[in-house]
Amino acid sequence: MSVTPLSPRGAAPETLLEVNDLRKHFTLGSGLFGRRARTLRAVDGVSFTVARGETLSLVGESGCGKSTVARSLMRLFPPTSGQVVLAGRRIDDLSAGTLRPLRRHIQMVFQDPFSSLNPRMSVRSILAEPIRNFGLAKGSADLDARLGALMERVGLPRDALGRYPHEFSGGQRQRIGIARALAAEPDLIICDEAVSALDVSVKAQIVNLLQDLQKELDLALLFISHDLAIVEHMTHRVAVMYLGKIVEIGPRRDIFLAPRHPYTRALLSAVPVPEPGAGRERIVLKGDVPSPIAPPPGCRFHTRCPHAFDRCRVEEPTLDSVGNGHLAACHLNEAAPARAA
Ligand code: SF4
Repeated sequence: MSVTPLSPRGAAPETLLEVNDLRKHFTLGSGLFGRRARTLRAVDGVSFTVARGETLSLVGESGCGKSTVARSLMRLFPPTSGQVVLAGRRIDDLSAGTLRPLRRHIQMVFQDPFSSLNPRMSVRSILAEPIRNFGLAKGSADLDARLGALMERVGLPRDALGRYPHEFSGGQRQRIGIARALAAEPDLIICDEAVSALDVSVKAQIVNLLQDLQKELDLALLFISHDLAIVEHMTHRVAVMYLGKIVEIGPRRDIFLAPRHPYTRALLSAVPVPEPGAGRERIVLKGDVPSPIAPPPGCRFHTRCPHAFDRCRVEEPTLDSVGNGHLAACHLNEAAPARAA
């Protein structure tokens, strides 16, 4: 995939988003008629930061909790516990009314550009809605200027404002989704599998667009994806999730060249490399991801880990530094802190 190279980043970027020990548990069943209500621990103690102008990618297999993190940040699912701090202000405990004007700072681009746009609304109405909701335009001339600028910014013609979503291709619809997010003048855009449903060449175009917008507007991106081949080209840092927890987080280069968690190594082993013969050895994990209703004791990954030993079955590893802003949760790193992949 051809994408624009990452630009170098400043030494001390300002933290925009801080997530501390976020949990989102769902109660299943009512507990009526003697049935025991069960708890699904979709997100179970997740902490990370995103700096202004930074891309953090949240990766992992389907069902690991990464989309629930996104929805909890947007308060589409109220968090069970933990803190979400945006630009120094705690927002997870605000009332709906207090939160409403702050919502514009975090916007979301969804996976499916076909279902995330209202088919009965013209592009003009779709883009005007957030501008009006957040009171951003000073009169109708300003609104028109903003709508035209948004179309140009995402590479669509201004005269397409009167058209409807079904008149566009998948990639163009995703551009409309991005324009809708930008209309609110956000600081952070959460891209939830935003390019997963697109063809390979269109994927690269949308990723390049997001990178250009990031540079132009100093946007932070939380890029949620199961596709490490895409993430490798466009992120500054990576957080790897397994069964509701982050098991490894660090700068892109460290994660891709020297992963320190067996799960990350297994995920990376499936990523194609450009040079023939330079392939990573494929690691095929045994078994399925356990249920988040009854996660295994000790290390949650021990039922599938090729390196599991007795301690892993009883003691949960903590997410500890392995150097250079790189953290991993694996007992093996205590035994051999300098061990590379
Ligand atoms: Fe594997 Fe044990 Fe490390 Fe968990 S703590 S990833 S089971 S070696």
